Amino acid sequence: MSETKAGSQTIGCRVTSCRYNTRGCDCQLSRIEVEPKCGCHTGEPCDESLCGSYKAK
Ligand code: SF4
Repeated sequence: MSETKAGSQTIGCRVTSCRYNTRGCDCQLSRIEVEPKCGCHTGEPCDESLCGSYKAK
């Protein structure tokens, strides 16, 4: 991916249980941290790319 996208991306998100989610399709935050499940190296998307900025409502 091109570095020119930095600072100009938007965050689409359907995690409605998160306090930062709006309308079931957007994130209110200007930046999020994507991180792997702790101690996990499975290569599976559900383990390797979680939203570390998630906060339950
Ligand atoms: S913080 Fe993460 S989980 Fe919560 S709305 Fe934003 S992208 Fe989705």
